[in-house]
Amino acid sequence: MPIQQPLEHLDATALQDLIDRYYAGENVAVLLQKFNVACCPRDLWRHFPPSEAGRDCPVCSEPLVVPRLSRTGTRGKITLPARCTTCLHVETLHCACSACSAARRVADQAKELKVREAIANFCANRWSYTPLKITPDQMSAEAAIALLSLVRCGGWLNDSSVGAIRNSVIPFAPQGADFPRQLLDVLLEYGLVAPQPNSPAGTFVATGEDQGWEMESAHWELLFPDPPDFIRQLECLAASSSWPEAWLADCHLVWKKLAAAECWEFCKYSVQQRDLPMPGATALSALIENLLQDYSVSQCYQLIWASAADATDYRARKRITAQHAANYLIGACQRRADRSRAEDWPIKGFKRNFELGRTQVSHVLHDVFLTHGEAGFFSSQKT
Ligand SMILES: [Zn+2]
Ligand SMILES: [Zn+2]
Repeated sequence: MPIQQPLEHLDATALQDLIDRYYAGENVAVLLQKFNVACCPRDLWRHFPPSEAGRDCPVCSEPLVVPRLSRTGTRGKITLPARCTTCLHVETLHCACSACSAARRVADQAKELKVREAIANFCANRWSYTPLKITPDQMSAEAAIALLSLVRCGGWLNDSSVGAIRNSVIPFAPQGADFPRQLLDVLLEYGLVAPQPNSPAGTFVATGEDQGWEMESAHWELLFPDPPDFIRQLECLAASSSWPEAWLADCHLVWKKLAAAECWEFCKYSVQQRDLPMPGATALSALIENLLQDYSVSQCYQLIWASAADATDYRARKRITAQHAANYLIGACQRRADRSRAEDWPIKGFKRNFELGRTQVSHVLHDVFLTHGEAGFFSSQKT
């Protein structure tokens, strides 16, 4: 049996009359009786046909309609968007009809294409993707160490590219004094590697007109012949006794930079443990350089840790600001180092900090190239 529509007995004029009187605020129970309508009074408006919007659907050209609201809703000046009963288009920004969804997909694709083009232009203007003609012994040791560390951290994606250093279990390099960026810059300047334009989302970020990029999340194109074989040759060369002439001195230079970055990172850890800010960068760099002339990284850790404690005590005694205390750390550490040199104090040194494990660059430099392992941490370069 078809469902009885409560208003179907009314002709168009009577129906319009009922609608007008309902919205004019007349008593609904009286209207139901007068028009002989059988329905729950509060549901009467739900049986009204939608009103005409007075314009056609932009998708299928059928007339648009506006759904009814109860008169309470209408008093709140709420209006529902016009819609099409044929193709289901709704006049809102987020219409989910098939035509609007398809148009949005096309717009999104065009936007994505524009972003990809901007990234491709940025990369093409900045780096050359032309493969080099180079053999492992033509690189500096610094480039060789950086390259091997990058490949080991990133992992092979295929025969000519490696993944992001961000995903490596072993960090690429200590986060001190911009050391990781300097190492990757060596590779970029050589033209040995270049970030892939199709690196994961978030690698290339546009800020206004400018395009920036994140080294940590980039995938890397390797721009030398037969990369897997090249890396094998490089590992063999590093393990051999026939190093290029400059490599030993070069390795000691990287050792120094790595040691300084490890001290910097440990200083950051020490001040964080004591709720102090970092001391000034110039003073800290000078201090670390001075310490490393005589002490191993392990001994520097001990000197820095003790000086952070001195700074905290001094702060408590003198009621100075945290920044002042952080700067005091530099002087305190220098005095400690000077006295221990003058009076020949033994400094036993610290083990590696649990939270600051060895980095890939440390493994590559000290295990693969210099083959003395953690001696790189426990002994000073003077000895
Ligand atoms: Zn339509
Ligand atoms: Zn639509």
